[in-house]
Amino acid sequence: MLNDCLFCNISKGQTATEILFENDTLVVFKDINPHAPVHLLIVPKKHIRSINDLMDDDQPILAEMIMIARDMAATVGVSQSGYKLLFNVEKGGGQVIFHLHLHLIGGWKK
Ligand code: 5GP
Ligand code: ZN
Repeated sequence: MLNDCLFCNISKGQTATEILFENDTLVVFKDINPHAPVHLLIVPKKHIRSINDLMDDDQPILAEMIMIARDMAATVGVSQSGYKLLFNVEKGGGQVIFHLHLHLIGGWKK
């Protein structure tokens, strides 16, 4: 059953989005409108609106998002060249999808 949160639906495999990595906690997929040659989204399966809504119990989720971002950076070959990890927080911070996600952006030409 589709709910009205796009990233909940993607994380449940209910869309055509190609999932690059999945574990019990999160999924990783390509941003549909990339801002760089590499632009991945690291998305927890738990619906959390934004960084503002994180609870103390969510600390392991956040830690795992960052560790998997590190691993994905290596997988797609940007570890050494470098990359950005970015959370947009609420409308004024550029957030348009209100389900927590970490942007992994890189792969620019030297
Ligand atoms: P935000 O601005 O909320 O931090 O970032 C949301 C990101 O989700 C945007 O970069 C946007 O391009 C991406 N996005 C929006 N809809 C879809 C979609 O249906 N599939 C994928 N793969 N990415 C999406
Ligand atoms: Zn959601």
